[in-house]
Amino acid sequence: MKVIIDFDGTLTAEETQTEALAEMSLDTLATDIIGVGRQQLAADYATTRRRLLSQPDHYWWEVNGLIASYCDEGAFILNTTTLQVLLRENPTYLQAVTSAFAQAEYDPVVDCTIYLFHRHTAGLPLPFRPAAAHVLSTLLREPHRTPVVLTNSLGDKVRRHLAALELPGDVEVLGDTRQYQMDPRWAHRFAHPDLGEIQIWPVSETRAIDLRRPAYYGALTKASIEDPRLAVVADTLSLPGAVPLVMGIPFFLLRTPYTPEWCARIVEAHALGRVLPSLGDLPQALRELPPA
Ligand SMILES: [Mg+2]
Repeated sequence: MKVIIDFDGTLTAEETQTEALAEMSLDTLATDIIGVGRQQLAADYATTRRRLLSQPDHYWWEVNGLIASYCDEGAFILNTTTLQVLLRENPTYLQAVTSAFAQAEYDPVVDCTIYLFHRHTAGLPLPFRPAAAHVLSTLLREPHRTPVVLTNSLGDKVRRHLAALELPGDVEVLGDTRQYQMDPRWAHRFAHPDLGEIQIWPVSETRAIDLRRPAYYGALTKASIEDPRLAVVADTLSLPGAVPLVMGIPFFLLRTPYTPEWCARIVEAHALGRVLPSLGDLPQALRELPPA
């Protein structure tokens, strides 16, 4: 079985890095991209962040017009979404970002936040969660389980950090998987036991998770050809968790200080979902999966 483990927030204590990431992103925006006072920008960021958290089901990370993630699902996601809302709503900021990212792959605001994320997470000191080395070593030693590290970040950064753990073997890295790559024209549908063929999974009165993520679906499909038994482990739901669940792949949601209750509830309610109280619980939870 391939055990696909998310990197940021799952193997690492993302909650300890977010403040530094936000500070560095605001520095870059103020100085290199917008040309605005750093204090003004920081005040606008704080106001925007408070507003998002007061109505988290009204704000999301949007790509190609689709919801990639709700703003409150993770620490990095909240930072990214705050920046996106802030940059879209202020005409001066939007104009500066639009001219700085004129050749955008998605749109200037999304590209700008992806750029800030990659640029500044690359240099951050990395706090692995205490159980990370033990969990990866355990899985490397178990004959029927292969850990694979999943990341939206670039694979090189992750490989470099994993090397520091001095594991008993090499861990495969599935890098740049782009779980946020949303495509409104993608025709694929997923079979849902009650709802039939779906592209959007309604998970509560106020939230629905969009499944139109062809790049991530492709990465999971490729992995399942190499090994038909898969499991996915991650700290957030919409980006890494929903597609595996609707594909019939067991998904473990790691509970972190920032995990919202609604995500834990949806995972617990799904036959293939399970909430892990801590990363160290993973090897045992995998042993408890029903046989194929
Ligand atoms: Mg994560």
